[in-house]
Amino acid sequence: MSSDFSDIVVLGAGIAGYTVAAELIRAGSQQRIVVIGEEPDAPYDRPPLSKEFLLNGDESALHFSELPQSQVEFWLGDPAVEVDTGQRVVRTANGRSLMWERIIFATGTVPRSVEPSSAAGRIHMLRTLADARWIRESVCRASSILLVGGGPIGLELAAYARNQDLKTTVIDAADVLMARSIPTVVGEHLYRFHTQRGVEVRLKSPIARIGESGTVYLVDGTEITADMTVVGIGVRANDELAHRAGIATEDGILVDEWFRTNVPSVFAVGDVARQRSAATGLYERNETWSSARDQAVALAKILMDPEGAAPFVGTPWFWSDQGGMYVQGAGSVRAELQTIRGDLAVESYSVLQWESGRLVGVASVNSPREFQLLRKVIGMQASLDPDEISDPGCNLKMRLKALLQ
Ligand code: FAD
Ligand code: NAP
Repeated sequence: MSSDFSDIVVLGAGIAGYTVAAELIRAGSQQRIVVIGEEPDAPYDRPPLSKEFLLNGDESALHFSELPQSQVEFWLGDPAVEVDTGQRVVRTANGRSLMWERIIFATGTVPRSVEPSSAAGRIHMLRTLADARWIRESVCRASSILLVGGGPIGLELAAYARNQDLKTTVIDAADVLMARSIPTVVGEHLYRFHTQRGVEVRLKSPIARIGESGTVYLVDGTEITADMTVVGIGVRANDELAHRAGIATEDGILVDEWFRTNVPSVFAVGDVARQRSAATGLYERNETWSSARDQAVALAKILMDPEGAAPFVGTPWFWSDQGGMYVQGAGSVRAELQTIRGDLAVESYSVLQWESGRLVGVASVNSPREFQLLRKVIGMQASLDPDEISDPGCNLKMRLKALLQ
C-alpha cells in the first residue's frame, strides 16, 4: 500500500504538539506538517478545564489559534496506532498511513486509575474536554462530590464544588496536600483554606477498594458515598506506542537535551518526554504546562537549525488557582535551608529553598509578581544572601534586575 508523505509528523495535538507546529510556521518553515490527534475536538488548552471552563462553560475560549491549513494539517479523532521507525511510516486507527522524514511524540500522559475498576462508569477522571463537560453537567444534578487525591486536580475541583455549594470531601493517602509540588508549609495552608470553606479533607486515608456502586472503602474501614466521584491520583506517561516502536522508555520517552530519542529522526516533547538534564545528567519528566510549551518552542528551533541550536535548559513552573488561593511553584520543593518572604497571616508570601546560598526553589501564594522574578533566578548559580532576599523590605525588582540582565 502506498503512503502519503509529510516532512514532519507530530503525534498529539495538546499544547506541546500544537506549539511545535505553530513555532515551525512562525519561524518560516515551508515543510508539510501533519499533526495526528487522538481527541476529536479542535486542539485546546487543558488548564482551564479545572478552572474557568467549569464556571463559564465557554468552549470557544479553550481553543488554540488556527494555523494555516496550507502548511499544517490536523488529523483529529484518529490516533496513531503503529510507528514503524525502519520504514518511517505511521499508521492510524482509521487505517490511514503516512511516511515521514521526522516524527515527534507529544502524546502526553494518561490518568492513573483506582484498581479494581469494577466501578467503571461511576468513577471519573479529569484529563480531557469530554471529561470536563461531564463534570460540569453532573455537578448540576449532584449535591455531594468525593475527590480522590489531594493534588491540583482534587483541590481545584474542591474549590469549584464548594462554589457550587456541593458537600465536598477530599481524600489523600499522603499527610499533606499537594506534597509532590509544594513545601509542607503551603500544603498546610491549603488544608486550612479548604477546610474553612467547608471541604472535608481526610489525609493519610488510602483507599482499600471501590465497590461496584461507587462506594469508596478506606483502609481504616470508613465508607464514603457521594453523588459523584472524581479520581485525581496522578498520571503516567503515554509512551506505549513509542515503546512498541523500539524507542527507549521509562515512564516517559527518554530524550537528550535536543529532544532526540535513541532512534534517529524521532523526537519527544512535553509531558511524555523524560529528558536528560544538562546540569545533573539525570532524566526528569515534568508535568506542567510551561514545561510542555517551553520544550516545544525549543524543539521547533532545533528542527529548523539542527546544527546551531543550543541544548535545552529550562526551569519548569506551574500555577494552581483554587478559588482565592493562587499557588505557584518552581524548582526544588525541599532543600537544606527554607526561608519565608511575606506574611502567612495575610495569605501572601513566598517560600524560598536554598542550597549553599543559591536559590533552588520557590513556591508563592497570592504573590504572582514576586514569583515571576524569583523563578528566573533559580538555576542561575548566583550567590545570594537568604536573609536579605527574604526580608520584605528588600526591593526584589532592583536587587534581582542586575542578575537577570
Ligand atoms: P497533553 O496535554 O496530555 O496532550 C497530549 C495529546 O496527545 C492528547 O490530546 C492525547 O489524546 C494525544 N495522544 C495520545 N496518544 C496519541 C496517539 N497515539 N495518537 C495521537 N494523539 C495521541 N499545568 C500547569 O502548569 N498549570 C495548570 O493550571 C494546569 N492545569 C491543568 C488542568 C487539568 C484539568 C489538566 C488535565 C492538566 C493541567 N495542567 C496544568 C497540566 C498541563 O495541562 C500539562 O502539563 C500539559 O497539557 C501537557 O501538554 P502535552 O501536550 O505534553 O500533553
Ligand atoms: P498529582 O499532582 O500527582 O496528585 C495526586 C495526589 O493524589 C497526590 O497527592 C497523591 O499522593 C495522591 N494519591 C495517589 N494515590 C492515591 C490513592 N490511592 N488514594 C488517595 N490519594 C492518592 O496528580 P493530579 O492532581 O491527579 O493531576 C494530574 C495531572 O494534571 C498532573 O500531571 C498535574 O501536574 C496536572 N495538573 C496540574 C494542575 C496545576 O498545575 N494547576 C492542575 C490540574 C492538573 P502521593 O503523591 O503521595 O502519591
